[in-house]
Amino acid sequence: MDIIHLLPDSVANQIAAGEVIQRPASCIKELVENSLDAGATRIQIIIQDAGRTLLQVVDNGKGMSETDVRMAFERHATSKIQQASDLFALRTMGFRGEALASICAVAQVEVQTRREEDEVGTTLEIAGSSVIRQEPIQCPVGTNIKVKNLFFNVPVRRKFLKTDQTELRNILTDFYRVALVYPKVQFTLVSQDEILLELPAGTEKQRIEAIFGKSGKHAYTEQFVHIESDTELVSIRGFVGKPESAGKNVQQYFFVNGRYMRHPYFHKAVMTAYSGMIQGEIMPSYFIYFDINPESIDVNIHPTKTEIKFADEQMVFQILLATVREALGKFNIAPSIDFDTSGKIEMPVNRGQSLATPPHIATPSSYNPFRTQAKPNLNNWQTLYPSIDTKEQDTSLGEQSQQQALFDEEFWHDEPQQFAGKYIYMLTSRGLMFVDQHRAHACVLYDTYVRQMELKSAISQQILFPEVLDVTADEVEHVRSMMDSLRQVGYDMEQLDKTSFSISGIPPQMDTTQAMSALRHMIEEVDLSAVEKQWKQQLAMTLANDAAVAYGKTMIQKEMNELIDHLFALKSYLWTPNGKRVVYMLTDEELKKNFT
Ligand code: ADP
Ligand code: MG
Repeated sequence: MDIIHLLPDSVANQIAAGEVIQRPASCIKELVENSLDAGATRIQIIIQDAGRTLLQVVDNGKGMSETDVRMAFERHATSKIQQASDLFALRTMGFRGEALASICAVAQVEVQTRREEDEVGTTLEIAGSSVIRQEPIQCPVGTNIKVKNLFFNVPVRRKFLKTDQTELRNILTDFYRVALVYPKVQFTLVSQDEILLELPAGTEKQRIEAIFGKSGKHAYTEQFVHIESDTELVSIRGFVGKPESAGKNVQQYFFVNGRYMRHPYFHKAVMTAYSGMIQGEIMPSYFIYFDINPESIDVNIHPTKTEIKFADEQMVFQILLATVREALGKFNIAPSIDFDTSGKIEMPVNRGQSLATPPHIATPSSYNPFRTQAKPNLNNWQTLYPSIDTKEQDTSLGEQSQQQALFDEEFWHDEPQQFAGKYIYMLTSRGLMFVDQHRAHACVLYDTYVRQMELKSAISQQILFPEVLDVTADEVEHVRSMMDSLRQVGYDMEQLDKTSFSISGIPPQMDTTQAMSALRHMIEEVDLSAVEKQWKQQLAMTLANDAAVAYGKTMIQKEMNELIDHLFALKSYLWTPNGKRVVYMLTDEELKKNFT
């Protein structure tokens, strides 16, 4: 006798249910995700006995037709994907078509649902995978699902449920993970006929506040700085805790494309950004939202697991680290900036718009980096540019003490002024400080370009009439090898034919003539036989030199203030990357020598 046979659906569904529906929390999560996928803007969750007796989700989403509601409870019934390749373009929470089939295999389910276009709705009752009743009903648009006596037919499962308190905690944990990514959806959670949570529609920040901000005098979200960066690969937004708010009991959340995820590797990136700022066992809280092309992540793993694979993990790690680090650094030197703007890194991707000014870290105009305590670490600044010819550096004025002086209280006496069309000078308590305007600007731009290349984030201004760059046959390969980097610094370019390229966008700081001649300079000067990092620095420096404000150009007060602010926000600013002096201090001693 043959002994292999197919399991009846009810048994197969029960087995599958073991994976998808492990406890009331997972059931609620699946139902709420369905409501979100159905476009609901209001979702009510009602539970009795931590979901054991009743667990109900009511939404105002698009509802289901009479036939669809019946289909919805079949296994692998889904409206969200058609074919395997759709899995790589997912923008919905659900896609497996398993949840409803699993739930109705282990509980008594009653649904009421109506679509906007239908005059009457449908009610359907199912228990242990068998349909008990289906009939027309008057009901509002949307879906209302009641799940009663979860695991009524699986006593073992029922026995394994923990105390109500623990199950309720699990429900909240799963619920927050969804509620935090859908701040525009209004949620209500009712337990034992009492409203446990009422979350109005709002911003992400308001949602965080509504969930976690209940205790304490100050707004919970005041403990955070805003992070934001936008690169071609990924965009990252969110909030990270100020170092002093770190503790043992913290909230740490990553979300990707509207889905909660655990990611130990990215967690490490965040922790690395805090190194030196927090010690011991304490940790910062964070709420970080990633947005990435769905093709570059893989969510098709176990239904209840929250790990998600990224195709380009290392690059995302770097971008995340840089983003958090910048935000914290910014916060450190400007502690009083408002939550909404502090630490925001403006790094727009190439969207074709013209940007008159270079991307910069938003700073309030009144902010003077030297009046606050935090100091950029200048101790190792020389090692940053190993190629500098040290003989050229005149140390007779005591570089080290000059650098320290920059940060003393009451160091700055007045606003910067221009002198000889070449220098910006300011009176300080240590002497008269001169800054070479062209070199200073080149340093700032150099830093911007290097960062754009690291983050692969292009900022370009489109030009009305594309330019053509003609090159010689030997230069073609050279240009092609540099093309990715050139794009990252702002040249929107394509190869036209064997020896020419069309340029339709240029770095935002330049005009077309300048940009084209800079392109020539880079082709001539960048030596691609050097290691990659080095030739990219060469490229950045050549471009920065061409783009920087020329000698003889009159600068207005605002431009000078901005330039000075940006210059002193750099890690290294006394010398250009190729070793030319940027800042010179005329001290009392120096003057004395001339007054003998
Ligand atoms: P999945 O979400 O993976 O598609 P489910 O078993 O959770 O699978 O749901 C099956 C189908 O039922 C969904 O694809 C959707 O078309 C429909 N559905 C489920 N819940 C709702 C709801 N609240 N509103 C409208 N349609 C729903
Ligand atoms: Mg679903």
